[in-house]
Amino acid sequence: MSPPPHALVIPYPAQGHVIPLLELAHTLVDRGFTVTFANTEFNHRRVIAAMADTAKHGGAAAAQLDRIRLVSMPDGMEPGEDRNNLVRLTVLMAEHMAPRVEDFILQSHRHGDAEPIMCMVADYNVGTWALDVARRTKIKSAAIWPASAAVLASLLSIDELIHRNIIDANDGSALTQGTFRLSPEMPEMHTAHLAWNCIGNHEGQEALFRYLIGGVRAVEGCDFILCNSFHGAEEGTFARFPKVLPVGPFLTGERDGKAVGHFWRPEHDACLSWLDKQPARSVVYVAFGSSTMFDTRQFKELAMGLELCGRPFLWVVRPDIVHGDVHEYPDGFFSSEDGGKGGGVVAGGRGMVVSWSPQQAVLAHKAVGCFVTHCGWNSTMEGVRNGVPFMAWPYFADQFVNQVYICDVWKVGLKAEADESGVITKEHIAGRVEELMSDKDMRERVEGMKKLAHESVKEGGTSHDNFDLFVQAMNA
Ligand code: UDP
Repeated sequence: MSPPPHALVIPYPAQGHVIPLLELAHTLVDRGFTVTFANTEFNHRRVIAAMADTAKHGGAAAAQLDRIRLVSMPDGMEPGEDRNNLVRLTVLMAEHMAPRVEDFILQSHRHGDAEPIMCMVADYNVGTWALDVARRTKIKSAAIWPASAAVLASLLSIDELIHRNIIDANDGSALTQGTFRLSPEMPEMHTAHLAWNCIGNHEGQEALFRYLIGGVRAVEGCDFILCNSFHGAEEGTFARFPKVLPVGPFLTGERDGKAVGHFWRPEHDACLSWLDKQPARSVVYVAFGSSTMFDTRQFKELAMGLELCGRPFLWVVRPDIVHGDVHEYPDGFFSSEDGGKGGGVVAGGRGMVVSWSPQQAVLAHKAVGCFVTHCGWNSTMEGVRNGVPFMAWPYFADQFVNQVYICDVWKVGLKAEADESGVITKEHIAGRVEELMSDKDMRERVEGMKKLAHESVKEGGTSHDNFDLFVQAMNA
């Protein structure tokens, strides 16, 4: 009997990438593959520590490392260097990881290894160098894009955007301060929200733009371009970009007792046992992903908005969510046992604050009535998959396109809108939540999207069929 096919999966080193790529890795294992998952050393340590911490707290995540081989490689940064400097991290990884990955693959071929690496699934964002390694080592390859197909399409259309005088050919900066569409059926995008134009300094912008152009060339040679989306969500985009195959939405972060890639320990039992006590569809779930930062004023306004809602709320407050780490809560928000700061039950018992949640499980809970989100793509797909309406509050890059999908295309959420001083006020927050909770048409539409999402990943669904196609090709 021939050994199982061996795939190497390489994520981009960010939370919103490691989680969906680990889910893809598990899905490959479900289909009989052996999988090696190559994190950066920095993130490998975080994933292992979060799993160990979960196990210590009595959770099910005893590190089941036998299912997927978790390996790590240095990213090229010094210990303690700022890994939020994504441009520097991206460029250094290309330099430092490419030779190691190449060596790793060749080693597996050399020693008569029982399980030589036969294929690579690379995050599109490391594709610039990783797919090149796959080509050099003559293994099959696929790029996986863990965000919306529309945003991927904007990268694949860099030449067109230059040709149409929408962006500059040298550094990608906006030539028109406005919106564009890649086809009439695709969502409107803003030049200022193109990934490289959000970097904030010219040198970084140009470096990222050049790197992403390299990515476009690299994916041209790979066997598949997959994306964590589904046909019904982005029909117009898949019609215009048929090479991009939807295989989602993935059930991200939800493999009980197995590695799912959290960088922090989810407060699983605390969240779920609290949710169990709340009435059906009553809870406002508030979470802004892994890297959104607030200023102190907006943070406090949000806290007051949640109080003003008068509804139960579950709020994820990462320890680093506020610039300068000054979390200013309204007076009396925490009970005296919390010492005025910390987590647990708040706002006179009506709310719950945790530092990281098991988000899939939370959104699937019957008590959750709406989702206040930064519109990260994983969060967007998780909300849709669970039929939860959104208050859409984007901060960065692709989150603005996701907001357009949520509010203007699928019409399953309402926009968070700032006042003239740039603040989203407590009254606005409370008002939006009230509108969301009482809008029956919105609820129907989000249930419709949930159904489409589930049908797409079931046997016979487009995402399921696409995944089959990809598995067969990698296996051949
Ligand atoms: N997440 C989680 N618990 C939290 C907040 C987020 O498990 O308290 C997960 C969430 O389910 C999603 C990922 O972290 O899978 C965040 O990805 P997303 O694309 O939404 O946002 P990003 O962090 O990339 O901005």
